[in-house]
Amino acid sequence: MKHIPFWVDDHSRPDGLTSDLPKETEYLIVGSGLTGLSAGHRLVGAGKTVTIIDSGEIAGGASSMNGGMVSPDVKAGIRTVLAYYGPRIAHEMWASTVRSVELVREIGKSPDIDAVIHEGGMAALGRGSRKLKEFDQTVQWYRNRFGVDWEVIDARDIDKIVGGDHFNVALFEPEGFGVHPARLSFGLAARVARQGAVLVDDCEAVSIERRSTGTRVQTKRGPIDAGEVILATNGYTTRQPSRELDRLIVSVGSYIIATEPLGEARASSVFPGGAMTYTRKRLLNYQRRTHDDRIILGGRRSLHPGLDLKDSARDLRQSLITYWPTLADAEITHVWGGKLAVPFDLTPHIGRIDGAWYAMGYAGHGVGLSCQLGHELAGMLLDEDPPSVYSEIEHDGRFYYTGGRPWFLTPASHLYRALDKLGV
Ligand SMILES: Cc1cc2nc3c(=O)[nH]c(=O)nc-3n(C[C@H](O)[C@H](O)[C@H](O)COP(=O)(O)OP(=O)(O)OC[C@H]3O[C@@H](n4cnc5c(N)ncnc54)[C@H](O)[C@@H]3O)c2cc1C
Repeated sequence: MKHIPFWVDDHSRPDGLTSDLPKETEYLIVGSGLTGLSAGHRLVGAGKTVTIIDSGEIAGGASSMNGGMVSPDVKAGIRTVLAYYGPRIAHEMWASTVRSVELVREIGKSPDIDAVIHEGGMAALGRGSRKLKEFDQTVQWYRNRFGVDWEVIDARDIDKIVGGDHFNVALFEPEGFGVHPARLSFGLAARVARQGAVLVDDCEAVSIERRSTGTRVQTKRGPIDAGEVILATNGYTTRQPSRELDRLIVSVGSYIIATEPLGEARASSVFPGGAMTYTRKRLLNYQRRTHDDRIILGGRRSLHPGLDLKDSARDLRQSLITYWPTLADAEITHVWGGKLAVPFDLTPHIGRIDGAWYAMGYAGHGVGLSCQLGHELAGMLLDEDPPSVYSEIEHDGRFYYTGGRPWFLTPASHLYRALDKLGV
């Protein structure tokens, strides 16, 4: 079993993407995942000089290793956003999440990137009459307020979405789809480099200093002066370069296993319609089929970002064979894990802190939203767009968290597991 993302094993990072650190740039982007690349794409397209630095490899964070599952909405749920912020903010945010899905589809389908868009919708899976009622209420609510064409699938039709006996109800969102995350993010990185952006790997930003003419960022490779700085570090945010930002974002782990290729017939017996799926729980699982007929299953036993990969593989395989016992003999070929960023309100944010802009906090909905927020932030900075809706909402920390190691993840995981067991 390989301890690397299947996607990166399947499609490696192109050579020749990176350069040395320049001394100055109009825009410095810290973090080379989809947020940074999307912002960089728009800025360099507008004729600006752009430098994107990463402490590790280019697009080596969550963007190249995720589940590749794309659908609208934010983690908190637009219903919560409506209750907190009212109809204008909720409708603008919903429209932005819908655009995020289209943006990824457009980038992924472009011939220079070809990120294997896997149409087939997104489905939340569940069991029993209580789940059916919950799905019914959810669909009605979203239909009435946001005009979605989602549907509830009951036991009569569940085999169009998922095989096996474990699940018997689903909430189906037809606009959802799957993408190959390594092809998407490495392809976008290659495009941005071709357009003239400078990409620098192994270049951690350690501090930011505001000066009269702009901003100086100290990096592990030396200083760079920038007109504006964008922090796009999401789940990999630490106290460097911004201690203040670290207080606002909690890094949570997510882990994935991939089976060996199962062949078309066997993969179709699990996912007949090609939908991306997930279980609607606090410690949820997500599952999909790949272009080469593997089954991928992700999730976590605990919210901690540092779980042992062998233990994670064992736990995830247990979920896999609970859902589909016929997969008990399928070899697990890959296990990997990465970090996602969870803000306390479970809503993405664009903001300004310590003399830099930032866009992050997608909490597992980041494939579309990272592309969208990067695009929206760049539009704001170019004065082409009005302020993004994500910059209008408060971004608060909590008195009990000063950044660094989030002590509350273990008790929260215990609580979530217990509530999931009770089905509440
Ligand atoms: C295992 C997993 C599965 C997921 N599945 C899905 C899914 O199916 N659907 C979905 O919508 N979302 C999913 N997500 C979430 C999604 O992948 C992320 O929200 C999204 O990729 C975030 O993109 P980003 O560019 O903001 O951050 P990242 O891609 O994580 O990039 C951040 C980068 O910042 C760099 N960095 C950090 N600090 C510094 C510094 N000081 N100096 C320089 N560089 C720095 C890091 O090295 C990293 O490369 C998943 C996440 C994980 C981990």
